[in-house]
Amino acid sequence: MKSARPDSQGHFGPYGGIFVPETLMEPLRELTRVYKVAQKDPAFKKELDYYLREYVGRPSPLWFAQRMTAQLGGPKIYLKREDLNHTGAHKINNVVGQALLARRLGKTRLIAETGAGQHGVATATAAALFGMECTVYMGKVDMERQALNVFRMESLGAKVVAVTAGQQTLKEAINEAMRDWVSNLRNTHYVLGTAFGPHPYPMIVRDFQSVIGKEARKQILKAEGRLPAAVIACVGGGSNAIGIFSAFIKDEGVRLIGVEAGGLGIVPGKHAARFAGGKVGVLQGTKSYVLQDDDGQILLTHSVSAGLDYASVGPEHAMLHDTGRAEYTYIEDADAVAGFDQLAQWEGILPALESSHAIAWVVKNAGQFAKNDIVIINVSGRGDKDVQQIAEWKKGQSTK
Ligand SMILES: *Cc1c(COP(=O)(O)O)cnc(C)c1O
Repeated sequence: MKSARPDSQGHFGPYGGIFVPETLMEPLRELTRVYKVAQKDPAFKKELDYYLREYVGRPSPLWFAQRMTAQLGGPKIYLKREDLNHTGAHKINNVVGQALLARRLGKTRLIAETGAGQHGVATATAAALFGMECTVYMGKVDMERQALNVFRMESLGAKVVAVTAGQQTLKEAINEAMRDWVSNLRNTHYVLGTAFGPHPYPMIVRDFQSVIGKEARKQILKAEGRLPAAVIACVGGGSNAIGIFSAFIKDEGVRLIGVEAGGLGIVPGKHAARFAGGKVGVLQGTKSYVLQDDDGQILLTHSVSAGLDYASVGPEHAMLHDTGRAEYTYIEDADAVAGFDQLAQWEGILPALESSHAIAWVVKNAGQFAKNDIVIINVSGRGDKDVQQIAEWKKGQSTK
């Protein structure tokens, strides 16, 4: 789990850091300390590996997508199947790791923010697994859009708190979770769901998600005896992407391609493509690219997929963008929905709408690769949660 980045203050080049009220400095330092000790402790690694194997179901397969490859006429497409993890997405990799850290910290209560509900479900699951209390903060608008996940969380024994401030979505839910954490530090760990926020979260979440890339690299070398030409992942906060990218960063010949939500097009308020329409700023504890107006007010965002619908992006991605080591691009709603249908019909796999952005990028850009090149797409989650949303989206299109 070793990486040279970030520095001791959490900086990835000019990005990252810790921008929080004084009251949160000590718990963040404590978390950093406990994590550093755990990282060097073979017993922690053994424990984490046990839960990832026996409970999450790892390693996840690397599937050669034969029919998709044939349909596009190459490159050779492999799918990293994070959709097959327990609870249906990559989020659980990070949550199990953080729950084990919480136990080492002597905490008995987990709290989390959630947008689409996937991270909330993963946290509620881990709380049940380890016999901890759980509260999940969720915007009221998101609770209505994602009623199924609210039901799942409550069934798992979690309390779901509706957040009614502002836009009533993810950004406000993060604020409320931070407030809860400040007031309940003694027994509570805040399980942040993506590679974002104040140090040490972007580092910890990356490290727990790096299992995706480590497995994928080993699996492709075993299957093909060579590295891929590109690794492609969708980017919300950036955790599934940094998780798979991290194992390939040193392999300079491997293109790393992050796909953001282009929504309805790159018009302010209509998308969540931070690298296409954002500027450097500070939001929710860290410095990165942020969608903001000329006065620094945070812009509204839009995406058909709730998991990519956020105004900023993890600081390590900001650095990889500026150094050119990774490329960032976007896919609009209509193409993402088409990607969902294509993968379903070509491979019998319903991808999450988030992952469908990465699928769609490959469908549209297959011509950039030689027929014999290999590409790996990270299928970050399964699409069952999205079927209602997609049905409504299609109905909206047909009545236009
Ligand atoms: C939450 C989520 C995402 C976006 O989050 P990242 O931190 O960018 O990975 C992507 N895919 C799925 C299935 C999700 O649940």
